Amino acid sequence: MQQIIDKLLILQDRDRRIMHLRDQMARIEPERQSFQGRADATQAGLESVKNKAKHVESERKKLELDAESKKQQIERYTLQQFQTKKNEEYRALAHEIDTCKAGIAGLEDRQLELMEQAEGLQRESATAARQAEDTRKLAEGQLRELASREQSLREELTGLESNRNQLTADIDERALRHYERLLRNKGDNVVVGIEHGVCGGCHMRFPVQLLVSCQAAKELVTCPNCGRILYYKPEMDLAAVD
Ligand SMILES: [Zn+2]
Repeated sequence: MQQIIDKLLILQDRDRRIMHLRDQMARIEPERQSFQGRADATQAGLESVKNKAKHVESERKKLELDAESKKQQIERYTLQQFQTKKNEEYRALAHEIDTCKAGIAGLEDRQLELMEQAEGLQRESATAARQAEDTRKLAEGQLRELASREQSLREELTGLESNRNQLTADIDERALRHYERLLRNKGDNVVVGIEHGVCGGCHMRFPVQLLVSCQAAKELVTCPNCGRILYYKPEMDLAAVD
């Protein structure tokens, strides 16, 4: 029986390492998404500044066209002024021309404002482009590192799993089934020592009879409370038992 216990202890050690590796691997994908997300967010910031700049530029062009068409309108009114002989009509045209000029002045003021905005956005866009580039490079490095960590974890895990298969092939079937059921239900602490007369898993105090049969190691002894597989080693303290 001691032999089975020893094998189960080695298996348990292997399973602990396997679980630890799986934990580490499970953390890789969220990390990857967080690095990628940061890079995507800075890139999106850059795109948004660029779009704003484009919008401002097309607004400014539109104003320029409006001003241009008003200038042409003035030319047409001026021509009409030359051609008319009626004072009243001449004055009306002069009024139209003034209105157009005022309109042009307003459009030019607005164009200047937009040009200032465009300059600000250009600076902002240059900064955002540098940030996006830095973040992208950083993320690329982090993602490469994650990929290589994932690769080595996977290799280590594959090695451990094949080692586990070798171990289990060599363990008594009933004991193994019991062990694996415990592993599923109770995690990685299922083959436990008896120290100071209590279960190393649930800490229940055992009757002497159980300690004796565990010491005799003739059969697989389990904790009557939690079902964990128990083992006893001479160096473990039995003195505390009443
Ligand atoms: Zn127990």
